[in-house]
Amino acid sequence: MSFLIESYQRIQKELSVNNVILVAVTKTKPVSMIMEAYDAGHRDFGENYVQELLDKQEALPKDIRWHFIGHLQSNKVKFIAPFVHLIHGMDSEKLLNEINKQGKKINRIIPCLLQIHIAAEETKFGLNETELEVLMTQIKKQPDHWNNISIKGLMGMASFTEDNDLIKTEFNNLKSLFDKYPTLKILSMGMSADYRFGIEAGSNMVRIGSLLFGSRIII
Ligand SMILES: *Cc1c(COP(=O)(O)O)cnc(C)c1O
Repeated sequence: MSFLIESYQRIQKELSVNNVILVAVTKTKPVSMIMEAYDAGHRDFGENYVQELLDKQEALPKDIRWHFIGHLQSNKVKFIAPFVHLIHGMDSEKLLNEINKQGKKINRIIPCLLQIHIAAEETKFGLNETELEVLMTQIKKQPDHWNNISIKGLMGMASFTEDNDLIKTEFNNLKSLFDKYPTLKILSMGMSADYRFGIEAGSNMVRIGSLLFGSRIII
């Protein structure tokens, strides 16, 4: 199974027309496949697991922009802090504190997205509207404390469903939340199955894996 260059070029074209950034999701996929996408000119890649990300980062060209899109455990922040381009899954004050602390240690401002729970399912991680508001207010109140973290935007995952109207509603809800905070610039919303709905609702960053690299055994 190889990187699907034709679909890459088609999707990339569709996205650039809409000024949407493509994060190519490469979890479980080999380094050789990432190199194919890299050679086609792609630089933004997303991974879900810290150890896998570290192994790939070490093996691959250093100008790759690595996005951490999985659920991040506080005790693992230090491993990715020196190089990660954007952490998409920030969803607790504990994690916020830890990222800020690790950023301080290495004198780096770490860019993050706050993950918002938009799906009907219980299982997905993320903050609700109130928790988001509390965090944003807290950061605003003591800006000097948060010198080593930069909240760039929001990320959300829609329900895993065939019900397109539900997906659209969930994405529209996230877009309305995003619009409440004009300092936020990135809205990471949309995957292989629903990226078009994401863009329609106002996403400017999509995370696409299986459509580019084929299906995975592990989700
Ligand atoms: C795996 C994953 C993706 C990509 O999923 P596809 O359906 O393969 O496009 C996007 N976002 C997150 C958070 C993921 O875990």
